[in-house]
Amino acid sequence: MLRPVHEFTPEVEELAHEILQYSLVRLRTDPPLDHPKSPEELFALTGNTITPEGMGGHKTLELFKDVLATACISTDHPRYLAFIPSAPSEYANLFDLVVGASALYGGSWLEGAGAVYAENQALRWISDLAGLPESAGGVFVQGGTIGNLSALVAARMDAREKHPEVKRWAVAASAEAHSSIKSAAAVMDVEVILIEPDASGSLQGAACAQEIDSYLSEHPGHGVFAIVATAGTTNLGIIDNLTSIGSFAKERGIWFHVDGAYGLAGLCAPDVRPLFNGVEMADSLIVDPHKWLFAPFDACALIYRDPSTGKKAHTQHAAYLDTLEDDGEWNPSDYAINLTRRARGLPFWFSLAAHGTNEYADAVEATMQMARDAAELIKQHPRLTLLMEPELSIVAFTRDGWSAAQYQEWSDKLLADQIGFVTPSAHKGQPILRFAIVNPWTKVSDIEAILATL
Ligand SMILES: *Cc1c(COP(=O)(O)O)cnc(C)c1O
Repeated sequence: MLRPVHEFTPEVEELAHEILQYSLVRLRTDPPLDHPKSPEELFALTGNTITPEGMGGHKTLELFKDVLATACISTDHPRYLAFIPSAPSEYANLFDLVVGASALYGGSWLEGAGAVYAENQALRWISDLAGLPESAGGVFVQGGTIGNLSALVAARMDAREKHPEVKRWAVAASAEAHSSIKSAAAVMDVEVILIEPDASGSLQGAACAQEIDSYLSEHPGHGVFAIVATAGTTNLGIIDNLTSIGSFAKERGIWFHVDGAYGLAGLCAPDVRPLFNGVEMADSLIVDPHKWLFAPFDACALIYRDPSTGKKAHTQHAAYLDTLEDDGEWNPSDYAINLTRRARGLPFWFSLAAHGTNEYADAVEATMQMARDAAELIKQHPRLTLLMEPELSIVAFTRDGWSAAQYQEWSDKLLADQIGFVTPSAHKGQPILRFAIVNPWTKVSDIEAILATL
């Protein structure tokens, strides 16, 4: 029989120990990098795992350990430098076990007051770093994609109320903005105005003014409801000019959204804090603690300057829900496209509360120093060319004379040899390599091991 959690039989007790043991070993030791397998290979190894009789906890766990887990790349491996890796702190990961064991509901104050209170303190830390007013607030959502979409939906609602005469709405962003902005626009059925950044890759307010004005003069009846600035592009870590873009947006009464899913973690590092000046003008911002703030998947902090707009856009109404709205309490579900939610901000909160914010600043600065060290090694390498000095913690470079196919072959072999995980990208139509360093446990020797294969 399925057992309620509070009735431990000796068999469940034993499984609990096995699971804790496995989790602790996984957290304690450097995991193997691992690599994917095809569905056919996996089926050959596992057969059908879902059966009327069940396999029992022990056997199912063995199957996970021996087969399934080894077919998942360890995103927290110090030589996983592709995409944006993950590097949860031990505290954050350990506390995720507590969250899993606690049946917390993170959607409403009524049900999850303590959890929501803690999540809100973590949000406050971010919003204070950004220089947003006391009244700012929001919610931890699944990821930057949902965070951006939720913020833009609130922005459009605000614009529609102020300008009912507008027939069609558009969002403006840099041509280098994250793919989730275009995806949000497609979901919302709005136009996207993509604006070329300057030669350094950073979007400027003047370019926004020019492009938006020409768009509006060519499209009578249209309006621009939001400008998205990227604070740390995913490909190269470049920060748009937040001051000039924010000032222009304010001047025109357009919602200013800052997508800092990766880069806004840098707010806590005094070294680079000035690069984010202007973020205090944001009407909304996002940052993913699962990227560069040492939290496990999945957590994106979505913060509104004026949360009442987010609430108005997103609160769901139903006879059985309205009881939650009575006392003006903070219901996280009201601030994004979500209703039922786990208290996904808690592992981040626990680690932040336990370590203190100074350690966060140190860890972020350590990864940026590692990026500068990697850039130096690349400059000294006879066959590599550094694309640009890293602004945050992404290092982009090319291998002299290689085609896109050669980059891919090298990347495949690097993973097959279990040396590292680094995937090719492109810049201005040319193939490049990039190291995204968010893991404070990535060492110079890790970078050297990868560079030695180039
Ligand atoms: C990663 C990223 C996103 C998307 O975030 P997810 O958590 O992957 O949904 C959005 N914007 C930027 C700049 C990113 O780096």
